[in-house]
Amino acid sequence: MSTTKTRVRFAPSPTGLLHVGNARTALYNWLYARHTGGDFILRIEDTDLERSEERHEAQLMQDLQWMGLAWDEGPELSGAGGGPHGPYRQSERLEIYREHTARLLAEGKAYRCFCTPEELEAERKLAAAEHRPQIYSRRCLAIPPAESEARAASGEHFAVRLQIPDRPLRFHDLVRGDVEFAADSVSDPVLVRSASGASAGIPVYNYVVTIDDALMEITHVIRGDDHISNTPKQVAIYEAFGWKVPEFAHLSTILGADRERLSKRHGATSIASFREMGILPEALVNYLALLGWGAEGGLRETFTPGELINEFKLERVTASPAVFDFEKLNWLNRH
Ligand code: GLU
Repeated sequence: MSTTKTRVRFAPSPTGLLHVGNARTALYNWLYARHTGGDFILRIEDTDLERSEERHEAQLMQDLQWMGLAWDEGPELSGAGGGPHGPYRQSERLEIYREHTARLLAEGKAYRCFCTPEELEAERKLAAAEHRPQIYSRRCLAIPPAESEARAASGEHFAVRLQIPDRPLRFHDLVRGDVEFAADSVSDPVLVRSASGASAGIPVYNYVVTIDDALMEITHVIRGDDHISNTPKQVAIYEAFGWKVPEFAHLSTILGADRERLSKRHGATSIASFREMGILPEALVNYLALLGWGAEGGLRETFTPGELINEFKLERVTASPAVFDFEKLNWLNRH
């Protein structure tokens, strides 16, 4: 049996309110950490400077606290030791990402891509016209290292791309089993955006999430299944650095009563709105826990947080989509 301590994280982007889907992701991570005696980490993914806002970050921390989902570590807020800690923030870790990019470039695992947006668009159009997958041609992979260095030094704009292996990318998912992406279905991912426009030189989600998950020694990545197509790219990044790939558990989509993906159209779905309506945190936690998970052997519907912690197992998380039902939440709130 492995003695590694479980470490999980909730990694929201502070671009809006905390909604049902992300709140459930946070809860499952927290329950799994508590069930296994592990650590639950909060990491704010705020590298998208244009869309990230401090008020959203403050609100989502407040929502997590209201739900009782305390995180276990992060930078000290007071500096006095032993006091409360804030979350990790990606915007405070840019130097770490830069160092890792330099390493990948030096080792020849990543390369500079000087293609302009127009050139990339032309490639995409051609691929579409020829009914081919939209895969980057790797034109810039052929540029000799010395020329690439010289062009970068002369101020030419470039993105950094990872060279992914020419074989299928596979990972095991604890909810949906083995997942495989054919080699010709994944482009060499951009790790750092080209130095033009507002997002100049900013490392992208797939890249920083992998560096952070590895450096923070995350053992289980539990997140929404909208990230499944990102995972092979992240696996390739782990492999390029020679890092151990964590376990993955992708949670099913949450649907509205009309079986469409849950969105604002379906009415109140934010945690803040539930609170305003008088929903109690215990009822919400109970309700969210059952949106895609069920205790062993049962049709049981009411659980205290302590009971959820005892019972929560990832093997009992279902792969089929869950349907959000406000009436049921309301019912639990009255019981
Ligand atoms: N910031 C990403 C999101 O909010 C995190 C995804 C992940 O957990 O890797 O969707």
